[in-house]
Amino acid sequence: MTSAPIRDVLIVGGGTAGWMTAAALAKALPKTIAVTLVESEQIGTVGVGEATIPPINTFNQVLGLDEAAFMRATKGSFKLAIEFVDWMGPGHRYLHPFGGFGLDIEALKFHQVWLRAHHEGWAPPIDAFNLSAQAAHLNRFAPPSKDPGQVLSSLKYAFHFDAGLYAKFLRDYAEPRGVTRVEGKVAGVQQHGETGFVTGVTLEDGRVLEADLFVDCSGFRGLLIEQTLQAGYDDWSHWLPNDRAVAMPCVTGGDGLTPYTRATADAAGWRWRIPLQHRTGNGYVYSSRDISDEDAVARLRATLDGEPLAEPNFLRFQAGRRKAAWVKNVVAIGLSSGFLEPLESTSIHLIQAGITKLLALFPDRGFDPVEIAEYNRLTALQVELIRDFIILHFKANARSEPYWVRARQMDIPETLQRKIDLFAASGRLFPSDLDLFAEPSWIAVLLGQGITPRRHDPLVDAFDEAFLKSQLSRLAGLIRQTAQALPTHEQFIARYCAAP
Ligand code: FAD
Repeated sequence: MTSAPIRDVLIVGGGTAGWMTAAALAKALPKTIAVTLVESEQIGTVGVGEATIPPINTFNQVLGLDEAAFMRATKGSFKLAIEFVDWMGPGHRYLHPFGGFGLDIEALKFHQVWLRAHHEGWAPPIDAFNLSAQAAHLNRFAPPSKDPGQVLSSLKYAFHFDAGLYAKFLRDYAEPRGVTRVEGKVAGVQQHGETGFVTGVTLEDGRVLEADLFVDCSGFRGLLIEQTLQAGYDDWSHWLPNDRAVAMPCVTGGDGLTPYTRATADAAGWRWRIPLQHRTGNGYVYSSRDISDEDAVARLRATLDGEPLAEPNFLRFQAGRRKAAWVKNVVAIGLSSGFLEPLESTSIHLIQAGITKLLALFPDRGFDPVEIAEYNRLTALQVELIRDFIILHFKANARSEPYWVRARQMDIPETLQRKIDLFAASGRLFPSDLDLFAEPSWIAVLLGQGITPRRHDPLVDAFDEAFLKSQLSRLAGLIRQTAQALPTHEQFIARYCAAP
């Protein structure tokens, strides 16, 4: 263990990861610790990553952000769900909404009641019991009520935003709070001769930036964590074979400013549609084994719902994770720590989770191998749980192209297979506390992708059918009426984001 106190932190990289880290450190660390961020305009950022999930609200609240100002600055929209289209064949669609389904009856899980209704043939779709889903279907939005007695309190949401504007917004937050930004390209890294700890980086123009703790936010290249410290990479492309993406924004058309992300399965991957106030973000995530870049971009162009607004942005990646996200005095946060794939929008969340753990285990009294190991253990578990959830979408498909047949036939992690088998038998699920995706998310995707349990909990049979029917119909009615009473998403944003 090294025992020198941390006085200087250097964040290498100014994409979403770099500026989220800078903003959080500026807020949380004592002013005696200097925070510097170095970024290179010449290199730029990955320029994608525009859909989030509900825990981002906690991040915004911890920073004390004004949500309307944030939405205005990032041209954001609200996100209530992901709509999955064509994953089970042409014309099939389902929602993975945020928030839970229905209300549990004492110890009895609501989805078990729904399963009985389904088995007996009188169940409406399960998303009739989720307010975010109903609001998404109707293109409506309002913030949740703070009164837990109101149905509106069950609404859960996240955001879509312009990635470049988000980084700028956080920069405008972090700099006045003491973060020093340095423009420059890192050309060299110095390490301590004996310990191998990083002591500083040299910029192309010869300037040297020294620090005690380094946060590697340099993106896929992993400038410090991999190129310098060679942490190694667990390659998961045998489960998640997509290795390319092409992104292209367009004028919003089609279904307009929907309060949900759309993920449409395609012959060799899937396409995203993320509507913002000023444009719609689109991309095709694909496997280079199954389609060429030219064909992928042609396919993306052909499916845009408005005029393209930029040239295609091609990206390459390899699904997996850094074997250790924290090595010596370098913590990798963001793409430098690994990347699964964009489905389910988990990467920005993992940045937030990395920052939260770094603050919880902040090495203010030096670097303790026990704390570093704990950071790496928790990171590995969190990423593996998310990995399983994402693999489920590909495994449980019902499409006929070779890419999809292979996905259906692949061996999956034993942890996921166990979950699928248990759910398929009896509808039971036991998500880990560390699983970002709680029970309702698993239920939505398992059912959505055709894994319907053979049995329901026998306790449900103790209830009278007429009683259950009237409860379910009352609940679905309340949720529907609550959704119908909300303003349209577009109206809400126009009012909310009007100049103060
Ligand atoms: P980058 O944006 O690549 O930033 C790296 C920074 O390091 C830049 O500032 C760069 O200038 C700097 N840098 C690099 N080398 C040097 C050097 N030598 N000297 C100085 N500076 C240097 N996530 C989600 O949560 N939701 C999504 O919907 C989503 N969609 C995605 C779609 C695709 C196709 C991909 C590939 C990713 C997606 N992600 C998504 C992930 C998301 O984009 C990233 O998690 C997020 O943008 C963070 O990236 P980053 O900051 O780690 O890296």
